[in-house]
Amino acid sequence: MLVFQQGGDYVWVDCSDGVQIGAEVLLSDTGQLQLIDDEGKEHKIKKDNSLKPMHPTSVKGVDDMIRLGDLNEAGLLRNLLVRYKEGAIYTYTGSILVAVNPYQLLPIYTPEQVEQYTDRRLGDLPPHVFAIADSCFFNMRRNRKDQCCIISGESGAGKTESTKLMLQFFAAVSRQRSWIEQQILEANPILEAFGNAKTIRNDNSSRFGKYIDIHFTKNGAIEGARIEQYLLEKSRVCRQAPQERNYHIFYCMLMGMPLDQKKILSLGNAAEYNFLTMGQCTTCEGRDDIKEYASFRSAMKILTFTENETWEINKLLAAILHLGNVDFEETIMINLEACDILTSTHFKMAAQLLEVVPNALDVSLTQRSLMTNRESVSKPLTSAQAVDGRDAFVKAIYGRLFVWIVEKINIAIYKPPPDDPKHVRLSIGLLDIFGFENFKNNSFEQLCINFANEQLQQFFVKHVFKLEQQEYAREDIIWKNIEFNDNQRTLDVLAVKPLNVLALIDEESLFPKGTDATMLNKMNQLHGKGDIYMPPKNNHDTQFGIWHFAGVVYYDSKGFLEKNRDALSSDVIQLMQTSSNKLLKQIFHNELSTTETKTKSKKRVPTLSGQFRQSLDSLMKTLTACQPFFIRCIKPNDFKKPMLFDRELCIRQLRYSGMMETIRIRKAGYPIRHTFDEFLERYRVLLKSKQRGKDICENVLTEEDWKIGKTKVFLKDFHDTVLELARDKAL
Ligand code: ADP
Ligand code: MG
Repeated sequence: MLVFQQGGDYVWVDCSDGVQIGAEVLLSDTGQLQLIDDEGKEHKIKKDNSLKPMHPTSVKGVDDMIRLGDLNEAGLLRNLLVRYKEGAIYTYTGSILVAVNPYQLLPIYTPEQVEQYTDRRLGDLPPHVFAIADSCFFNMRRNRKDQCCIISGESGAGKTESTKLMLQFFAAVSRQRSWIEQQILEANPILEAFGNAKTIRNDNSSRFGKYIDIHFTKNGAIEGARIEQYLLEKSRVCRQAPQERNYHIFYCMLMGMPLDQKKILSLGNAAEYNFLTMGQCTTCEGRDDIKEYASFRSAMKILTFTENETWEINKLLAAILHLGNVDFEETIMINLEACDILTSTHFKMAAQLLEVVPNALDVSLTQRSLMTNRESVSKPLTSAQAVDGRDAFVKAIYGRLFVWIVEKINIAIYKPPPDDPKHVRLSIGLLDIFGFENFKNNSFEQLCINFANEQLQQFFVKHVFKLEQQEYAREDIIWKNIEFNDNQRTLDVLAVKPLNVLALIDEESLFPKGTDATMLNKMNQLHGKGDIYMPPKNNHDTQFGIWHFAGVVYYDSKGFLEKNRDALSSDVIQLMQTSSNKLLKQIFHNELSTTETKTKSKKRVPTLSGQFRQSLDSLMKTLTACQPFFIRCIKPNDFKKPMLFDRELCIRQLRYSGMMETIRIRKAGYPIRHTFDEFLERYRVLLKSKQRGKDICENVLTEEDWKIGKTKVFLKDFHDTVLELARDKAL
């Protein structure tokens, strides 16, 4: 499929996917051309003048897409393809890095490479994720400004690996080789054990979002870090799609834990647990769960989890597995459908590990208390309801455990700034957050995830297009506006307009009589007339659509309110109050303290989307205060295979990330801007005189294609490199 031959002339020919494909001319006789295209397909074409020759930059490929002669989708795609086949997975668009997942270990991440890329200017060496890390580090110290790097892409595109490589680079250039660097690096195996799982898209898929903020002293030594986590996919703990697994930690624990410990927890093999076998897949090719468990255990020690804490975590994990094997049997209780728990060792172990009286656990799982006229009555649950209640309990335990573990990690790695007012703390934040999702069935979780992606896309659009073009206007720079796809209208419908979609979901969730149907009705009434929200096709349909920047997604409204309420039944909360398991009580301390004070003030537990919006708002504030870098990860195929480049898949990703427009604006624009004074202060060494002002700036700038505005100098990314290199030489 991927034969590519050197030599000969190159042309563009039409391709069935609508984007032209490159082809080499093999033979040319009088009236006919024999061509072989980039995918190895032969074409016989009549010679005519409409055949477009390829620009030389597209034949061999270029490091920076803004240098492409064929500035269209075909040129962009071929550039990535040609480079990918040579193992050059990184390509710049100005200072934005495009990274194509190689799905194989490349020898480009050695300590020597770290050394090579340290303290070099962008574009000096071939494109690399280390060069972006180095630029963040350099800009942070030069501009005394916090930096952030937003790493985006679909599941499996390489976001998490890129994040780890950046961290590896920072740990190395901090040059202390101290405990704190190691602790920050070792936080990852723990996060991945609890938050990553094998999915059909990615064997190590992160099922949560994270922002790692690394703190540096003004000299660039790492001082500490803080990790923020977003929206762990809790449903995976109880249910997995075919060929997918639960979170790694369960399989690792069952494979790696010493037998005597397993015996105390009464644990067997993964195959014995309902919660680990729904995907009919308990192993993952290429992953060694025993080895991973050993790394996980050592990471736990490095992050100062005590033996006792680790044991308490194991107890809760084991309790989850045992709870999953509890069976319910249908019965009839005074004319009502009800259910009984079938007594088993699993049930007894679950009660023992949760440190509750078995009978109390039984009651809380099979009955529900209801408040009627100030008196509490219990109603039996059907077995299906009991299973749902059990699953909600398990998801809550796992979700809170994850949050608690991240907090514990932060206690180890976060150092509050010292009291000294002269102390300067600078930071670099790395955002590795779930990419845009569009599955066969999309639910509330996908809406939250896609909302987060809309916000990040708007941040990108604002930074790269809106603010930039506004500044040209303000500074009287002659400029032809570049059209771009602005997703603000989608954001307006989702979260800005009065009675926006998320607000309506929240409102119905807090309304006791609200149902998914009443919610859908309100959404139809308020947004059905616009072109962003698409109401269901008929009265029986429960799916609504949203036009996202990456395409339309249909969401099934069923279950929205329950997921958003994310409430635990009062029976389960009461059960936990009777437990003597300290860790269990600690991870639920929010719920437990609200019930205790319930009589005085009814503290509302915020809804899931409410919490998520709050943490996203705070993330956007942080990002806005930083100088951003962007890494766009591209997944070249759906098979996790090296050297396989699926054109259509790549075209789609490049399109919705707005790569074409980005290249255009980066090519035409001036992303580096300094006020005259700032500029002169930094580059005065390149001048002989001590004059100030605009004219002098012009004297410094010997390269072409810069602009002088009313108060600022406008430069291209390459000017920055040239000037910094000249300055290094002059100093
Ligand atoms: P994402 O976080 O975007 O879902 P990951 O970073 O987990 O994706 O990458 C998925 C898989 O792709 C990794 O487990 C690894 O096998 C492979 N991969 C990603 N980036 C690289 C890289 N730079 N070099 C080698 N393999 C990579
Ligand atoms: Mg990931």
